Amino acid sequence: MRYSGFKVIKEALTGHKGWKPVWRDPEPKPHYDIVIIGGGGHGLATAHYLAKIYGHRNIAVIEKGWIGGGNVGRNTTIVRSNYLLDGNEPFYEFSLKLWEGLEQDVNYNAMVSQRGIINLIHSDAQRDAFTRRGNAMILNGADAELLDAEQVRKEYPFLNFNDARFPIKGGLAQRRGGTVRHDAVAWGYARSADGFGADIIQNCEVTGFRIEDGKCLGVETSKGFIGAGKVGCAVAGNSGRLMGMAGMRLPIESHVLQAFVSEGLKPVLPGVITFGAGHFYVSQSDKGGLVFGGDLDGYNSYAQRGNLPVVEDVCEGGMALMPMIGRARLLRMWGGIMDMSMDGSPIIDRTDIDGLYFNGGWCYGGFKATPASGHCFAHLLARDEPHPTATAYRFDRFRTGRMIDEKGMGNQPNLH
Ligand SMILES: Cc1cc2nc3c(=O)[nH]c(=O)nc-3n(C[C@H](O)[C@H](O)[C@H](O)COP(=O)(O)OP(=O)(O)OC[C@H]3O[C@@H](n4cnc5c(N)ncnc54)[C@H](O)[C@@H]3O)c2cc1C
Repeated sequence: MRYSGFKVIKEALTGHKGWKPVWRDPEPKPHYDIVIIGGGGHGLATAHYLAKIYGHRNIAVIEKGWIGGGNVGRNTTIVRSNYLLDGNEPFYEFSLKLWEGLEQDVNYNAMVSQRGIINLIHSDAQRDAFTRRGNAMILNGADAELLDAEQVRKEYPFLNFNDARFPIKGGLAQRRGGTVRHDAVAWGYARSADGFGADIIQNCEVTGFRIEDGKCLGVETSKGFIGAGKVGCAVAGNSGRLMGMAGMRLPIESHVLQAFVSEGLKPVLPGVITFGAGHFYVSQSDKGGLVFGGDLDGYNSYAQRGNLPVVEDVCEGGMALMPMIGRARLLRMWGGIMDMSMDGSPIIDRTDIDGLYFNGGWCYGGFKATPASGHCFAHLLARDEPHPTATAYRFDRFRTGRMIDEKGMGNQPNLH
């Protein structure tokens, strides 16, 4: 069933009786060509591109809960490609281009909104750093614009310009950045993959791998053994736990990140803004809630909820930047488990086990990467070689010392 404006009007006039379930609920087959573990954005996108670009039909996505229940449905929905380093910037720009065509590609309204993002500048040194980053973006075909304080004030007059400990001196804008409705991304990719014949198997936990003579033959699950020619792992915050079942120890730690939503307000924030003197980022959802977040909780955890000290820290960041936020009531908050890598950049690679592939280490920037991650992981699974834009995302960079340390923090996962 194709969605269209005509279809919406027809259904509205006929009592909405023609809508069908958006994906099937199949029982697992005994064997697939490719099994993807993890029904988050990255796993589902991988299934979509495997089917659509590489023609694979005999594939399955195995999800231990329900699709969209992980980080893909928990993030603050920001997409952008404002990176500095060579390994990252072309990849994230590729992703942003895929976002721009996503809704047509999967025939699903994911509310892709290029409302723009501004990283605020609070010191001369920060202006230098952001100028450099903006130049790197432009050199890689992305858009970037350096703003002075007056230009920022025109768009966001209510920010604390005058009375602040760290006055706003300008901003680095990326007009093509913005937000995308996060869970709709999971649903859109799931619907598309299902339409190509991929099985999306929910409530099925992978509990182990069957590995013989160095080759992965399939996965043990709560619904029994499922054989596979190849197995791709895309479980984000559960990466360490899952790959441990295959005897691998990853350069990744799991940490909690919280997100917050205020009560609905009249339109006040035209785009996304990030505070450069603390860690705080905010946008306004189409329903009116201010959606914001800040730092990790800072300790290793697999719990999908955080603690009060970080709530306080994030709210202080909000108050320092836009004191009027203190008048809004907090409606809800939650946490997600982040797969924090040692250098803050991801991994899309084969493992030493034949037929076992890995995608993870997305830290708290993996939502914006969803389309490119799925595309590149599908390429790796289908062709057994890295996609040209993801050649840097290999395990061996930790052995050879070729870190992609965007923040320059060193091997300290909770600081990236
Ligand atoms: C609060 C918060 C805010 C964020 N904000 C942003 C942002 O603004 N912009 C941005 O770019 N990124 C953001 N992120 C990061 C982004 O959400 C993640 O990097 C990205 O979603 C991870 O990929 P995924 O969607 O595939 O993960 P998930 O949706 O977590 O998918 C992994 C899936 O694997 C499943 N799984 C785990 N173990 C097993 C198993 N043994 N068997 C079967 N299934 C299993 C899980 O149930 C889960 O559904 C944020 C994250 C959080 C938590």
